[in-house]
Amino acid sequence: MKRVLVTGGAGFIGSHLCERLLKDGFEVICLDNFFTGRKTNIKHLLRNPFFELVRHDVIEPILLEVDQIYNFACPASPIHYQYNPVKTIKTSIMGTLNMLGLAKRVKARILQASTSEVYGNPLVHPQTEDYWGNANPIGPRACYDEGKRCAETLMFDYKRQNGVDARVVRIFNTFGPRMLEDDGRVVSNFIVQALRGRDMTIYGDGSQTRSFCYVDDMVDGIVRMMNMDSIAGPINLGNPVEFRVLDLANLIREMTGSDSIIVQKPLPPDDPAQRRPDITIAKNILGWSPRIALKEGLELTIDYFRSRM
Ligand code: NAD
Ligand code: UDP
Repeated sequence: MKRVLVTGGAGFIGSHLCERLLKDGFEVICLDNFFTGRKTNIKHLLRNPFFELVRHDVIEPILLEVDQIYNFACPASPIHYQYNPVKTIKTSIMGTLNMLGLAKRVKARILQASTSEVYGNPLVHPQTEDYWGNANPIGPRACYDEGKRCAETLMFDYKRQNGVDARVVRIFNTFGPRMLEDDGRVVSNFIVQALRGRDMTIYGDGSQTRSFCYVDDMVDGIVRMMNMDSIAGPINLGNPVEFRVLDLANLIREMTGSDSIIVQKPLPPDDPAQRRPDITIAKNILGWSPRIALKEGLELTIDYFRSRM
């Protein structure tokens, strides 16, 4: 039985990943400092004898005997990663260094959760893995974008220099149950606002685009990436169907039967104007593409938030 470490395992994607890995017959160690993660996300796993929970901060080294490491620890929503930007960049850089040190020592395979944010405000559309990006190194998003870019650098340097079996997935906007109600990301914001009958807040004129992937599809791509025999470069994972933020707001308003009003708020600095993954490599190498359409995923997510309110 393979033992797997999931850092950030009590978070949104991490908790779904832990669940899937247990189903697949892995023994799972979930490590989290509970900054944005919650015990309720993994409460149902605690009675499983093959699941262990460790409260730990990835900024500090840790020694564990594991075969695979999924390094997901890092706040992902702009309001959370900008709350303490120095801590965010420390989490990406020192956390990844610690996990790479562990991988090297115990000869574990390691997969880093990177992000579409490494492309910044992209000038190439859709984004292919060979695009180096257009990120502002000193803006308010830099603690996250540059932290993740540096984490990627560390992964490939440990691979070249130390022979660590390191893999990188670039995750595009992912949504689903267990997103935090108040984490400020667009899908959870719009659903919660619509269900409460509050104003739905569009930043800017809503013409900016994102491509939204349902969490189960994302987790499937991540697990495939970890379990392929050999992988060279980073791989984009996301749903290539692109939506304008304004259209997303209207769709959620209609699906929830809400009479909320759509209002405009200022566009945050450095907010990318467009984003869509080119997933040709994921299709060809991992045999992966998303199966759950936006509307189907939104129905499941709306049900989740409705049940919590
Ligand atoms: P999340 O905030 O729900 O999960 C992050 C988890 O990491 C939380 O449980 C948090 O408590 C934990 N954490 C944060 N700092 C830590 C530290 N120093 N030590 C230990 N644990 C720490 O976010 P998510 O959406 O589940 O994102 C998970 C990963 O996927 C992140 O690395 C994120 O950058 C990446 N990602 C997510 C998206 C997305 O759309 N959700 C997109 C791109 C990349
Ligand atoms: N957004 C919005 N209203 C909100 C929250 C976000 O219009 O209440 C916009 C935001 O400006 C961005 C897009 O939705 O253009 C996606 O934002 P999110 O924070 O979910 O993800 P990211 O910007 O990191 O892709």
